[in-house]
Amino acid sequence: MDFQDSPQEAAFRKDVRAFIKQEMPPGLSRRGKGGAMFGGGGGRFLQEGYWQKLRGWLDKLNERGWVAPAWPTEYGGAGLTVIEQFILNQEMATLGAPRSPNVIGLGWAGPTIILYGTDEQKKQHLPPILKAESFWCQGFSEPEAGSDLASLQTRAVRDGDDYIINGQKIWTSGAHGAGWMIMLARTDPDAPKHKGISYFLLDMKSPGITVRPLVNMAGSHDFNEVFFDNVRVPQENLVGEENRGWYIGTTTLDFERSGIATGVSHALTVDDYVQYIREQNGASFGGPTMRYELADRAVEAQVEQMLNYQVIGVQARGMVPSNEASIAKLFSTELDQRIADTGLKLLGTYGQLMKDSPHTKMNGRLPSMYLYATTSTIGGGTSEVQRNIIAQRGLGLPRG
Ligand SMILES: Cc1cc2nc3c(=O)[nH]c(=O)nc-3n(C[C@H](O)[C@H](O)[C@H](O)COP(=O)(O)OP(=O)(O)OC[C@H]3O[C@@H](n4cnc5c(N)ncnc54)[C@H](O)[C@@H]3O)c2cc1C
Repeated sequence: MDFQDSPQEAAFRKDVRAFIKQEMPPGLSRRGKGGAMFGGGGGRFLQEGYWQKLRGWLDKLNERGWVAPAWPTEYGGAGLTVIEQFILNQEMATLGAPRSPNVIGLGWAGPTIILYGTDEQKKQHLPPILKAESFWCQGFSEPEAGSDLASLQTRAVRDGDDYIINGQKIWTSGAHGAGWMIMLARTDPDAPKHKGISYFLLDMKSPGITVRPLVNMAGSHDFNEVFFDNVRVPQENLVGEENRGWYIGTTTLDFERSGIATGVSHALTVDDYVQYIREQNGASFGGPTMRYELADRAVEAQVEQMLNYQVIGVQARGMVPSNEASIAKLFSTELDQRIADTGLKLLGTYGQLMKDSPHTKMNGRLPSMYLYATTSTIGGGTSEVQRNIIAQRGLGLPRG
């Protein structure tokens, strides 16, 4: 396989790079800063000055359709091919150019609405998602329904032109800053479990919704429990047909799992580690064991890129990746943990110091990188679930 850019791809890459270098305001780059830009919370967690700059940058990206490069142009995207998206993502990651924090709106809710939404739903929701004016959260998981999502128990009962929703969601990232939720609820409790679920767009300002914070082990309030007490949802907010929501929900999950990652950020982090050792004048830093470990991480970051090429190869042939996306997700999230682990070893006791310490190293990014890395093998489907998919769909093994 030839991994070189074609002449057209090389020209596109040059254009992207020149655009970022020229248009991205100084001080906005995330390069070397670490920390999640994930913001179901609608940017309200970003410092005011940064948010202002980011908005200006997002407006510029939006003029080119690059806020949602995969969306069709008629909906404000750029309609880029998967290869072009990959190149755009690579260049953005390499130069530390920030994306819109509207991750769920752009990556999961928007594409689902484009595929299954009515014209009114598209008109109402797509423009504010693009402009980062309306932020979204995802109400799928429940206390007794995570990996086995089809067991969800939140009920939606038809009442005239509305549905009335009762129940609870959990681990709802960004629900405290989101204006809207994509959610699954059971509309037919007597049908087989996959066939009685419907897909709704829920206005988070509706009376009867309570959002209760869950603070994670990094001390950060990212996700929540969400309770529904007789919440009315108009029938127009149903996506697709009643009781067919499971199939739409799995499409949303496909978007979540096969979002085109690049592997660039892991390679850059390994480069940062090497740079750090150089700055300490320390060939002896960590000794040969650390050198071998860094070599392993560097090779693994390249392997991750190859696995991502496999995913985009499938997408470029017009197919939806399934076990290929699971392989890439599994490898990348477990690598996340190994890279954070290597970083902590490299910094020794300094690795525990947060950003606010005067003695901090590498922008104090290691403690939160390490703690957050534990979550990446859970969110979007656990490693065990990915291994099951690879075993069954990839290797054709029987169900265990
Ligand atoms: C950072 C983060 C953000 C999240 N954000 C959201 C969000 O915004 N919206 C949302 O709806 N959800 C969200 N989630 C929830 C996430 O989707 C679930 O945590 C995940 O699907 C696992 O479900 P669970 O936590 O109920 O664990 P369980 O499903 O109870 O799993 C417990 C353990 O059993 C294992 N297991 C389960 N079934 C099998 C099986 N068949 N074979 C082998 N092992 C199995 C799992 O791998 C795991 O180790 C988020 C999670 C995290 C960590």
